[in-house]
Amino acid sequence: MGKFSPRAVAGALKKRPLPAENAFLNTESVVIRITSIRETVRRREKHGTDTPEELHETFESRNSMRSDIRRFIRKIPKAELHIHLEGSLEPELMFAIAERNGVELPYHSVAEVRRAYRFTSLQSFLDIYYEGMHVLLQERDFHDMTAAYLARAHADTVRHAELFFDPQAHTERGIPLETVIGGIHSARVEMENRTGMSTRLIPCFLRHLSADSAMASLEDILRFRDLITGVGLDSSEVGNPPAKFTAVFNRARAEGLHVVAHAGEEGPPEYIRQAMDLLGSERIDHGVRCIGDPELVERLKNGQIPLTVCHLSNVRLRVFDTMADHNLKRLLDLGLRVTVNSDDPAYFGGYLTENYLAAQEALNLEPDDILTLARNSFLAAFLAPEEKGRYLEELDRFVSLFPHTQRGKRQ
Ligand SMILES: [Zn+2]
Repeated sequence: MGKFSPRAVAGALKKRPLPAENAFLNTESVVIRITSIRETVRRREKHGTDTPEELHETFESRNSMRSDIRRFIRKIPKAELHIHLEGSLEPELMFAIAERNGVELPYHSVAEVRRAYRFTSLQSFLDIYYEGMHVLLQERDFHDMTAAYLARAHADTVRHAELFFDPQAHTERGIPLETVIGGIHSARVEMENRTGMSTRLIPCFLRHLSADSAMASLEDILRFRDLITGVGLDSSEVGNPPAKFTAVFNRARAEGLHVVAHAGEEGPPEYIRQAMDLLGSERIDHGVRCIGDPELVERLKNGQIPLTVCHLSNVRLRVFDTMADHNLKRLLDLGLRVTVNSDDPAYFGGYLTENYLAAQEALNLEPDDILTLARNSFLAAFLAPEEKGRYLEELDRFVSLFPHTQRGKRQ
């Protein structure tokens, strides 16, 4: 900003107050502002930036455009396909549940819990994650945790969510699976009745435990077959390749269940191949490490195998040093079916909208990128074709109001 003092910049920012969070999108003003900033940028490229007025104008336009894209992200209909319910347990709720259950936590305050969320790796997170879920004992606890996540997702204009949870993490503590599923299921039914938001349940096997334990868990899960859409694989990746669970996933597929697996988060591209070839995984959770294997990238692209990317999580767990280093945009530009997800939002600093916002800001995502990500989230969902069609129509209606997106222009 060369000639501008910080005070002048702050003054320019204050001139145009941001609209209220819940304001409806004023599409006309979005288009005008985006056109205006493009013209200003063109003028700057042609003539240079001479006058303080032009600098003011550019600064204000950038600020406005930024807030418009943020509103576009907040309002666009989207699906979330990679969310661990236990990872949505906020410290406040953790304390409330601990108190009513008489469970003692190793922390004295919410602030102390949050201070503990400084992770150096996936394992350093998992240690705290498993500790946190010890407060969950009653059906009501699982209900409240699920209801809190769904309310937050609904506020983020999530229309459809596929919910992971870890049965073994609870049954190993002596909590019956009916308690876990009962609480989760009642919360999702309430939300669906109230808002029309659809959900699916995907219990995951803990890969640091044995294949026998996973098989026993699958048999337990099959008692609730009509409530379950698929199964997944999560927890400590390195040293626990998908190959370890081939028989378990064969059995799950024979029951007609969908299959997903975490692979290529910290583990090598080979784990992604195993997830597809040995487990029959229809989506890859994370999968960001595919980039080291061009042949694999080509295969993921040709098959349009969805990747459920969780970049806030990746940065917090040091898979990437900073958001600017993340390969989400690169994967998107390569033509892979990338989706954005929050993983364990209570631990990683953001729910779905925050993940979109962080990626947009750090990687300069265009409105069309945001649209592609939202569209991919519905295309990759385990929904019946007519349900998928309904969500995609809603998305198209929303986008047709935005002529600055390529898809909007075509309409
Ligand atoms: Zn995950």
